[in-house]
Amino acid sequence: MKKPTQEQIQRMCTRKRRYRTQGDALDAALLAGVERQRSAYRCAVCQQWHLATAG
Ligand SMILES: [Zn+2]
Repeated sequence: MKKPTQEQIQRMCTRKRRYRTQGDALDAALLAGVERQRSAYRCAVCQQWHLATAG
């Protein structure tokens, strides 16, 4: 598998908020009222969770 570039890492990880668990990420989406538009994914870079825009 090809390693992500620094730019991709920044886009998928370092520019995003981190959550320790999937539950934490989904709770944050719920609090923001955007749970329908967001999904949580496990980050390959930091091994924590981020929210992605669904679709
Ligand atoms: Zn990450």
